[in-house]
Amino acid sequence: MPLYEFYCSTCRKKIEELCGAGTESIRCPSCGEDAGKVFSTFRTGKGANGGGTASSGCGG
Ligand SMILES: [Zn+2]
Repeated sequence: MPLYEFYCSTCRKKIEELCGAGTESIRCPSCGEDAGKVFSTFRTGKGANGGGTASSGCGG
């Protein structure tokens, strides 16, 4: 079962839920408002060394 992260703007916190890929939003267990899915961003713009080599996958 995939684990997805949702973010409740009302509570300002993340909620981890096990759900299917088609679920775009869940109901926040704390306040009952809709919490939208958070897309994981692995690429950060920091640490640009100016190199031309693009690393793929997980680095050790
Ligand atoms: Zn909430």
